[in-house]
Amino acid sequence: MLIRTLATLECTKLLTANRFARLACAKDGQPYIVPLYYAHSDNHLYAFSMLGKKIDWMRSNPLVSVQVDERGPGRSWKSVVVDGRYEELPDRVGHKLQRDHAWALLSRHADWWE
Ligand SMILES: Cc1cc2nc3c(=O)[nH]c(=O)nc-3n(C[C@H](O)[C@H](O)[C@H](O)COP(=O)(O)OP(=O)(O)OC[C@H]3O[C@@H](n4cnc5c(N)ncnc54)[C@H](O)[C@@H]3O)c2cc1C
Repeated sequence: MLIRTLATLECTKLLTANRFARLACAKDGQPYIVPLYYAHSDNHLYAFSMLGKKIDWMRSNPLVSVQVDERGPGRSWKSVVVDGRYEELPDRVGHKLQRDHAWALLSRHADWWE
């Protein structure tokens, strides 16, 4: 198997071309990973979520990892892991522009997570 490191631009293209990821967060030394849909724009990954375990955990520890992969022909594949920081866009003054931007990106797909 031949493995090579993707250039930054290739990583960005892969993140933009896809919308399904696995989000990992951690609390008290315990990892937690779930599948979710995202949208990539301007160095940010946007996602929609109801309240639940992952939101609780990311509120207490905002350090997260997101993994996205793409299968090519035959046995080829590409995979990107992004380390980042969870940030909420609450429905309050000061977040409207970013919220509207996220909403516009995510709602481009008819089957996005509701
Ligand atoms: C293709 C796909 C796309 C999805 N897109 C989104 C999205 O865009 N936004 C979004 O919020 N959610 C999405 N989900 C659902 C997501 O994976 C979580 O199941 C959901 O968000 C609930 O997560 P939670 O941490 O709030 O769980 P809670 O409802 O708080 O769940 C509590 C417990 O349920 C179990 N559990 C929760 N989720 C899963 C799971 N996926 N698989 C196995 N066990 C689980 C775990 O044991 C967890 O401890 C998607 C799922 C799939 C399969």
